[in-house]
Amino acid sequence: MEAIFGILTLKSGREKPVKNRHPWVFSGAIERVEGSPQPGDLVAVNDQHGRFLATGYYNPHSQIRARLLTWDANQAIDEAFWYGRLRRALNGRDALALQPQTNAYRLANAEADGLPGLIVDRYADYLVLQSLTLGIEKRKEMLAGLLADLVAPRGILERSDVAVRHKENLPETSGVLAGESPPQRLTIQENGLEFIVDLWHGHKTGFYLDQRENRAIFGREAWFAGKSLLNVFSYTGGFSVYAAAAGGAAITNIDSSIPALELAEANVLNAAPERTADQYIAGDAFEVLRYLRDEEQRFDAAILDPPKFAQSQAEIQKASRGYKDLNLLALGLLQPGGILATFSCSGHVTADLFQKILFAAAVDAGREVQILAPLAQAADHPLLVTFPESAYLKGFLCRVW
Ligand code: SAH
Repeated sequence: MEAIFGILTLKSGREKPVKNRHPWVFSGAIERVEGSPQPGDLVAVNDQHGRFLATGYYNPHSQIRARLLTWDANQAIDEAFWYGRLRRALNGRDALALQPQTNAYRLANAEADGLPGLIVDRYADYLVLQSLTLGIEKRKEMLAGLLADLVAPRGILERSDVAVRHKENLPETSGVLAGESPPQRLTIQENGLEFIVDLWHGHKTGFYLDQRENRAIFGREAWFAGKSLLNVFSYTGGFSVYAAAAGGAAITNIDSSIPALELAEANVLNAAPERTADQYIAGDAFEVLRYLRDEEQRFDAAILDPPKFAQSQAEIQKASRGYKDLNLLALGLLQPGGILATFSCSGHVTADLFQKILFAAAVDAGREVQILAPLAQAADHPLLVTFPESAYLKGFLCRVW
């Protein structure tokens, strides 16, 4: 069992979020640190009267000084604890009954699964682990061992090459943690469709697994047979493969990443080998959309799935302008009655705000926009009600007149 090496005593009046089970303790909430906890050690969090509130792991180098693991004073944080949390996360995924149509999905969604800082994604017989915090970094070999026991994958690849680790005073790293090295190109299944993924170099852990349900919804609602699609920020062709498989007409893919577009083309041709009219345009989406506008092109359906525009609270305004411009441009390119799926993955842009942005774009575009369905991250990326930060992906499925 791991010992508790220190006590963080909160300032008066700062205990409420902890009591409400928010899993982060910020530096500004801490009155004093007792004991000499080393980075990554377990600490108890007490209120100003010395009453126990929670146990978590500590990082003096991060503004998030502690990430909380339990609110139960009698809960030991030992291997059995981590095993139990992983087991619970896996049970939740089993209950979604994704297999066999889908064999790539998130097994552990960090804070939202009671596993702060730990992401584990399954891609067929391989796991990809992302360690985002020092507390997980110190325990990752143990966690990889538990995952090997629980899931028996062929191999576990680490993809901790993410900038957010600098906030934890950690370098970026990647490599095989256990078992066999995954191939450079791995074929996975999503809703019965095949996708080639590059686990070593792809974005996130290789694929935007969080969009799985939205790809299926869009695939249904857009009625692709014979219809054209504009896939803006296409990455490796996630949405395009659904359109191609459904007999869609020409698909125009736009992305700034050439390797992503190469995989997009391979994925689309794998789903529908006879296609010749599709386009793969490498460039800045804003510029390409203006060009398409000037060319007076029109599409039956469009997807806008940009990268995160707001990295912080301070960037919300600038991000909102970006989202508005993008949506304004896309609305102008749609045929009357066309379908638009528009997304924001900025945690700081709420669904409410995003709807207001869409409103502003619709008014400026002079188009009537009906929301058919709100969209969110897939169920294997659960969000925790006590941790609103976990609700990052939001979108709307719209019909545009
Ligand atoms: N819809 C995709 C995921 C999109 S992720 C899917 O279902 O898989 C966002 C994508 O935007 C990334 O592939 C990234 O390369 C691309 N991107 C980032 N900035 C861009 C820009 N300014 N113009 C075009 N593409 C951009």
